[in-house]
Order: sequence, then C-alpha cells, then structure tokens
Amino acid sequence: MLGGNINWDTEIQVEINDPNSPLYSKCSDFKELNLPKNLIKGLDAMGYFKPSYIQETTLPMLTSNPPRNLIAQSQSGTGKTAAFCLGILTRVTDASYPQAICVSPTRELTDQTYNVIKMMAKYLTVQSVLALPSVSRRDFFLLLLPELRLKHNTLVPRDHKVREQVIIGTAGTIQMWISKKFFDPSKIIILVFDEADQMLIGSSRIDSMKIKSKCTRLQQVLLFSATFGEEVCEFASDVVGKSANRVLLKPKEITVKKIRQYRMDCGSSNGRFQALKILYECLTLGSVIIFVNTTEAAQSLARRMSEEGHAVSVIYGKLEGLERKRVMQQFRTGQTRVLISTNLLARGIDVEHVNVVINYDIPWDYELRKPDPENYVHRIGRCGRFGRRGLAINFVYDQKSKEDLEEICRCTNSQMIDVPMDDEEIERHMQL
Ligand code: ADP
Ligand code: MG
Repeated sequence: MLGGNINWDTEIQVEINDPNSPLYSKCSDFKELNLPKNLIKGLDAMGYFKPSYIQETTLPMLTSNPPRNLIAQSQSGTGKTAAFCLGILTRVTDASYPQAICVSPTRELTDQTYNVIKMMAKYLTVQSVLALPSVSRRDFFLLLLPELRLKHNTLVPRDHKVREQVIIGTAGTIQMWISKKFFDPSKIIILVFDEADQMLIGSSRIDSMKIKSKCTRLQQVLLFSATFGEEVCEFASDVVGKSANRVLLKPKEITVKKIRQYRMDCGSSNGRFQALKILYECLTLGSVIIFVNTTEAAQSLARRMSEEGHAVSVIYGKLEGLERKRVMQQFRTGQTRVLISTNLLARGIDVEHVNVVINYDIPWDYELRKPDPENYVHRIGRCGRFGRRGLAINFVYDQKSKEDLEEICRCTNSQMIDVPMDDEEIERHMQL
C-alpha cells in the first residue's frame, strides 16, 4: 500500500540538513537572517524554523539596500513562496496604501499565496488583499452596481479604494484594478511574479507587462519559478535588467530526486482507463492528482470513473469560480482523494498529502505543438513537496506518446522506471 508509516517531519529535518538535498541550507535558524522579531514570530507559528536553500540564498538579496531585481529558480516544493513573501514583508511599511503586488497565474494559487502571507504577517500590522475575478454571475452583476458594497474582499475593494499594503492576484484583475484606479500603482515599490516564466509568456504577458509599466516607481522586481526555459530567460533578463541578481539551477538539477518517475505502457488509449482502475485500488493512502490535457478529457474521464463507482472530483478553468473553490477545499481537507485536473493545477499548488501524480495525458504544448517539459516538471512537482517522497506515473500507449515522453525525459534529465500494468507489480513498485 502507498504511504506506509512515514514520519514526514523527521524526514524533512534530515533532508534540510543533507548537503545533497535541494533544500539544504547552512543556516540553522531564521534568526540568523536578520529578520524583524514579529516576522520570526509569524514563521514560528507556521512551524518554519530553519530556512530552505532558496530562502537562505535569496533573503539577503531580497532585503539588502539598495534593492536589486532578482530572478530566482529552485525546484518545486522548496519554499519559494516564503522567500518572496518575506521579501515583501520586510519592505512594506504600515502606511494604508498598496506597496507590493504579487501576480500569480490562477485563482487557486493566488488563494494559497494569500493564506501564506496572511499567516506570516500575523504579528505585523501589514494587511493583504486578494485581487481575483468574481466567483459567480451574481457577483458580476453586483460589480456593475458600485453602490452595492460587498462584504468579502475577493471582488471589488470596499468603496473602491484599496488600503491594504499587499495585493495578491491574477494579472487580469490587478490590471483591471489599476485601470479603475482602485489604487495608485506609482506607490508600488515591489512587484513579484510567481511562476514568472508563465506570467511573462502566453496569455498573461500583456497584462503582466501593463502592470509593470504602470508601476513607475518600482524599487524591486522579483521573478520566481521552478522553470525558466531558454526563450523565457532572455525575456526575463530584459524585464529585470542586466544588474539583477540571479539564482538559477543547472539543467540536471531541475527535477526533484525524491519524486520517483514511472512509465506505464497501457497498450492502447483505452488501456489507460484500465490502468487507472488498477492504480485506483492501490492508491489508498494519500492523495492523487490525475492530469489530462483538455477540459473535455477531464470531463469525460471524471464521468467514466464515476460511472464505474470510483469517487473522483474534477477541476478545470472553465468551471465556475465557486465550484472551483469548493473542489479545492474538499481536496485540501482530504474529503476527496482523487482529483482530475487540466494544467490549471500544474503550477504552485501545495497540498501536503498529495503523494502521487498521474499523467494520463503526456503534457503537450498546443501552441508550439510539441511535448511540454516545463509543465511536466510543474505537474510532477505537485507531489514530493518540501522533502517528501512522491511518485509520478506516466501513461504511454502508442509510438507518439512514447516519443513525447522520451523527449520530456531528455529535456528534464529524468530517469523513468518501467512498471507493468499488473496489480502485484504495481504494489511492489509503488511502495513509497
Ligand atoms: P515552491 O513555491 O518552491 O514550489 P512552496 O513555497 O509552495 O514551494 O513550499 C512548499 C512547502 O514547503 C509548503 O508546504 C510550505 O509550507 C513548506 N515550507 C516552506 N518553507 C519552509 C520552511 N522554512 N520550513 C518548513 N516548511 C517550509
Ligand atoms: Mg510556488
């Protein structure tokens, strides 16, 4: 059975002290990093006592004066969020207007980051606010009636004026807030792009660049991600300038060693469904995310699994905001254990008890029409967080899917273990 009796916390302690781990840091305590007392108190309350490698390395750069821009790359699950949140919280004052923005790609990740910074700032006077699109059609109509003040802060700031010091949101909504003059972007001193490679390319690029150009008095721009492909790296360098600090990984270090990667030959496209049913029986402990490439694939796989009596939930971008919120909440609390998702959850999502990721579809970049190694790295990084062990199982079923996976292995320096579609073999291999 998956999981066994693992004492995660002991394992993580060992991991953070192991020079071969991506988490390893020489610093034994956050106190060595000259952080304000009340911030350390917040970290303590979160159970963060010792910084991880990326935190230890970037914190001096994040807090030094004069501030310098930064591109920071570290493997999935190594604590990038805390690094940039600490950077933000050491720079903003308690004056009642926005001074920092963190832009992230999805509603789900924005929510998560907001919760992290809120906990971290528990003993500070600094407040944060979510900038997200409305969650339902009803909210949308309320948005058209400015005289109606909404109690919660996820839609439009009360009296259309943002007083919180930190804005965490998606690029489109932050850009909308700027254009509606909900806050003065010229007072923003620090701008963070989480999942920066994604934010700087594709559909978010225009909004991201608009935000940056409106923030005319920026002191510091921070780009964080586990992946910075070649093309992105060049563009990112233009965004932060030549004098920016850079913490980058060597190509062979990009995937997390503690995530064991498997290749399962399912024989045919339909064989994948069989394989999933066999796996479902074995995957009894922990939680699983099953990734597919399209909304339609997500819907039809969820329908088929449910028809066969397997409890699964499903999430994709086209679902209504409220439904997405409900699905995430049930998955985070462990009420549901198996979640089918598109790339919506590929990046950033941190759910401790996820120990298995299944690529039902090998990630595919529809724009460039090639396999998508970046999304592969992010997808499998939903398990094996902060030193935990994880399994990534990749389904192949024909020549093309095999070649696509091979290409991904080449780009990411991944080693696959072949596992046959047989329950005993699976049980044997899948011991975490
Ligand atoms: P990344 O953004 O690098 O993928 P996250 O910032 O989401 O990773 O962090 C991964 C997990 O590690 C989270 O559950 C977070 O609470 C935990 N974590 C981060 N830093 C520390 C720390 N210094 N001590 C203990 N846990 C930490
Ligand atoms: Mg992250």
